[in-house]
Order: sequence, then C-alpha cells, then structure tokens
Amino acid sequence: MTEAERRKFRGILEAKQAALTGSLCSRDEIAIEKASDTLDAIQLAGEREAAVRNLDRDSNMLRQIGQSLARIADGSYGICQRCDDEISLKRIQALPWAVYCIRCQEKVDALEIPAYDSWHLFTTAA
Ligand SMILES: [Zn+2]
Repeated sequence: MTEAERRKFRGILEAKQAALTGSLCSRDEIAIEKASDTLDAIQLAGEREAAVRNLDRDSNMLRQIGQSLARIADGSYGICQRCDDEISLKRIQALPWAVYCIRCQEKVDALEIPAYDSWHLFTTAA
C-alpha cells in the first residue's frame, strides 16, 4: 500500500469515526427520554431495543475503526491480524476498517471468535 493510499483510507476512517461518534451521542439523548404514558413507554422500549442493536453494531465498527487508525499510525494497516497476510486492496476499499483478510474473516464469523479482545481490555481498563 502506498503512502497516498494510507492517507486516503485514514481520511475515510476519520470521517466515519466522527459520524459514528456523533450518532452514538445523539442516541444517548433518546435513551434517557422519559415516557409520558404507557403507549409511549411501549414505543420507547421498542425504539430502545432497536437502538441498542444499532449501538452494538456501531460500537463494534468504532472499535474496528480505532484499531485501523492505530495500525495506520504504526504501519501495520492492511495486514491481517490473524495470518499476517496482506488484506487485498479491493477488500480495504470496500471495508477500510477490515482487520482480517477475507479467509480469516470467514473463519472468525463462523467460529464467532471474540474479535477484539485486546482492544476491549484496553477500553475497559481505562
Ligand atoms: Zn488472514
């Protein structure tokens, strides 16, 4: 991967990170909204459930983006975290926050290996 490509992906990742961080913050406001009656409460509960699912997905993506940015900084961006093979540029272009090559991603998905153990430990320890 060239320096120009790395810079381009860093820009994409930072923009995505900012967008996700913004939407996570606005969702916090929805979550603490008080229900005025039962119907509202039911509707809010449903919305909250959907919000939590989205939140989960977005938090995962944010973690992957954070890892990718750290890897751009230390020069290991674009290298699979499991097998040390290069992740194809085509895959990076489609998914700039990918941390695994396609073969490893399939294995991780199939086995449901907790993908971001070290990052998780890092954030909970902080
Ligand atoms: Zn791999």
